[in-house]
Amino acid sequence: MRDRMEEAYISHWETVGSNDLAIFRIARSDDQLFWDFKAGQYAQLAFWDQPEYDPRPRQFSIASTPSNNSELEFYAVLVREGGEDGKSLGSFTGTLWNHQAIGSKILVMGPAGRFDLTRTDLKQVVCVATGTGLAPFVSMVREQHELYRKTKSFDRQITIIHGVSYSNELGYRDELESLSADNDFGFTYIPTVSRPDQDADYNDSISCGRANDLVRLLLNESHSGRITPVPAKSINNALVGLDNPQQAAYYLCGNPEMIADITSVLEPRGYQIKGRGAQVITEDYW
Ligand SMILES: Cc1cc2nc3c(=O)[nH]c(=O)nc-3n(C[C@H](O)[C@H](O)[C@H](O)COP(=O)(O)OP(=O)(O)OC[C@H]3O[C@@H](n4cnc5c(N)ncnc54)[C@H](O)[C@@H]3O)c2cc1C
Repeated sequence: MRDRMEEAYISHWETVGSNDLAIFRIARSDDQLFWDFKAGQYAQLAFWDQPEYDPRPRQFSIASTPSNNSELEFYAVLVREGGEDGKSLGSFTGTLWNHQAIGSKILVMGPAGRFDLTRTDLKQVVCVATGTGLAPFVSMVREQHELYRKTKSFDRQITIIHGVSYSNELGYRDELESLSADNDFGFTYIPTVSRPDQDADYNDSISCGRANDLVRLLLNESHSGRITPVPAKSINNALVGLDNPQQAAYYLCGNPEMIADITSVLEPRGYQIKGRGAQVITEDYW
């Protein structure tokens, strides 16, 4: 498979909070443009020197907008319980972290996947992400905002609920806050942390509780995690109106437990889970 991949190089690397989260970009080694893609799709990435026991490419959602194919942006977490024995660094991300120097060679193939906004015509789009599962939503919102800037109209309402453990893991927070401050662009950003009691930087401008529990709260269901979900004061009304099986579609990305839990509360409320016209559209990261 590697023989069919294109050669690219790391063109940007920035850590988010700790050293274990990074936003990085790649550019093609021959300076050509990357292929066209839809916001929400993923690429496959690999290195020549991945561990021999698992040299397979890994899928990574593209966080950059389709309007820029000179560089692709990704949002990655260093997996600390991966590898062959399940106790060492993830085989791909362990290698990626060794290659964070600008100019390091990487292999890429893409695009793939059907996790994109054309899957539904519904006007209310609720995007729920855990951790780096935010990446495809960053691409979608960036693209929708570009379209809105060109046309000065936007007929959908997009909400992103982003769940992390600690507030310093809220990648893209500044950008998403500034997009949601643009009142004519129908976008609401709801960051939430699941360990506020262990988070020195936590304050009530951020919601608390797991992402799936904030969704449970808006659906009037009891929470499943340890922390009782509390929406930030500033987004008091933002959860109202999102529970509408006639109007709303849910895009869920990241941790499969979050995806299974939210799906299990949406299905009995009449949301269509599968097939054409599905209102619950999912991307499991593992
Ligand atoms: C369609 C798709 C898109 C993806 N996009 C992204 C992305 O944009 N960013 C990203 O960081 N990962 C993404 N992933 C996950 C990615 O493909 C790898 O599985 C991940 O980087 C771990 O690879 P590894 O070889 O380092 O770990 P491995 O040695 O293969 O260990 C795998 C274990 O790592 C854990 N794990 C995997 N992904 C994550 C994660 N994101 N957060 C926490 N734990 C994880 C799980 O416990 C999994 O069983 C995506 C997966 C899919 C299927």
